[in-house]
Formats: sequence, structure tokens, C-alpha cells
Amino acid sequence: MKFLIFWNKCKKCDFTFDTLSDPGLYSFRLLLSEKKQQPAIVKCDDDNAFSEVYQIVKRLLKPKGYNEIKIADRFDRIFGDICDLAPDGSRYNMTGKKTCPNCGSNDFDFGPYDPEVYREENPPEITHDQWDILDDHSKEKEIERRIKSL
Ligand SMILES: [Zn+2]
Repeated sequence: MKFLIFWNKCKKCDFTFDTLSDPGLYSFRLLLSEKKQQPAIVKCDDDNAFSEVYQIVKRLLKPKGYNEIKIADRFDRIFGDICDLAPDGSRYNMTGKKTCPNCGSNDFDFGPYDPEVYREENPPEITHDQWDILDDHSKEKEIERRIKSL
């Protein structure tokens, strides 16, 4: 898979690093670990938890008047949380939100290089073994709790 590379520059400490960017396809989404930006993907149509979590988020938020865009936003923020941890021990994040590996700040300038730089990568698929063992009731409670903490 070919990924467009983004440069990132921390506004707080000037640390610079590269990350893969989500190619914006329907077939898969890119997640990055919060600590070291280790990439992983989720194959949207093949992954049970992907649709399951989306349905729960929608079921909980639609009656509260959330539109599709807001529901998708909350889903993006929650899905990485229910995945098993990345090899670096941190959580995966699907929102593109990054943490500076040097100082922990979330405040960045970032964008594609000019001219654009692409890299061939084959990120592993995320797993969610911890999620899979929950029963339906616990899954819903888990999502409810995470929605409240956003
Ligand atoms: Zn920094």
C-alpha cells in the first residue's frame, strides 16, 4: 500500500517527525499509535467490531439529535480505544490526532511535503481481542462510558 507522508512539527518544542496519512479510501482506514505513531489499518467491511461499534455509537447518539457527521466524528474518536494496544503500549487513534514523541504536546503544524512523498508500507491489521470477549451489554456500557468521557 502506498501512503502519502506528512511532515509534522511540534509547535511547543519544534521536534519534527514523519507520519503516514490516511489515503481516504472506503476499503480501509489508517490508525496511528498515540506514543510512536506506529501505523495499523482496519479493513472496514471485513472487521466485525468496526460496524458493531459504529452501530452502537449511532444507537446511543441518534436519539440525542446527533447528525451523521457528528456520529462519525464520535465513532472515529472511540474506535481506536476499543482496539488492542499498539506494539509501543499506547492506544491506537483513528482521528489523525498526534502526540509529540518528544514533549507530549498535541499542538502541531503538519502537511504533505512539496513535492509529495509516498512510501510503500504494509501496516498490520488492528486486533480487538479484548472487545471480542465482551457480551453485548458490556459492549454497549463500554461505548456509553467512552462517549461520556469525550
Ligand atoms: Zn514537542
